[in-house]
Amino acid sequence: MRVVFLGAPGVGKGTQAERIAAQCHVAKLSTGDLLREAVRNQTALGLEAKSYMDQGKLVPDAVVIGLVKEKLADPSCTKGFVLDGFPRTVPQAEALGSVLISKNMALDRVVNFQVSREDIVRRLSGRRSCQKCQATFHVDFAVPKVSGVCDRCGEPLVQRSDDRREAIEMRLKVYDEQTAPLVSYYQERKLLFQLEASGTVDAVFQHLSQELAPYQAT
Ligand code: AMP
Repeated sequence: MRVVFLGAPGVGKGTQAERIAAQCHVAKLSTGDLLREAVRNQTALGLEAKSYMDQGKLVPDAVVIGLVKEKLADPSCTKGFVLDGFPRTVPQAEALGSVLISKNMALDRVVNFQVSREDIVRRLSGRRSCQKCQATFHVDFAVPKVSGVCDRCGEPLVQRSDDRREAIEMRLKVYDEQTAPLVSYYQERKLLFQLEASGTVDAVFQHLSQELAPYQAT
């Protein structure tokens, strides 16, 4: 199964990517998670990416493409993958296409997650994340058992610097300008599946699993 999850920030791509990858025993590649890890570890890549991320801007294509190429070469991706948050620009989509062709592979499906703008802003501004295990919670919709503490690993929860109002606005603007054109890009290639993603995590997961069932290894 080789799929891309497309959609604005806050539509739930990451949560669903994790569940689908676990169910289908394929790798989950989230460029946002990989970049945040690089920032935490203060690698050269992380230092370059940080200022773009804090402002809600995209990290330059060359940086992200290099990162994804390296990860796709990993044996964990041979059985399949879910790409979460990549590609985000047409040049990234083209680079992905070339890498897959060179490996004699192709994408099975591109899922476009759709959620209203109002809901997106509510989801992102109330989101709290665990810096250690990346689990996400919400101040109203997914409250942790102990306030401010990750249910999964017990570390403190924080608000991502790019989940602040100003950064959210910038991320949505960047999405409209640079990522939204990928909807027609993949529609033209007959790969697009439009997913109404405003329901509960379980309901969206059920719908998604059905759509992706034909691509799961038996
Ligand atoms: P995300 O967790 O997917 O919302 O990503 C957080 C931030 O990481 C984005 O706002 C960008 O700054 C950066 N980022 C993640 N994926 C990409 C990508 N494919 N291209 C460029 N920047 C990215």
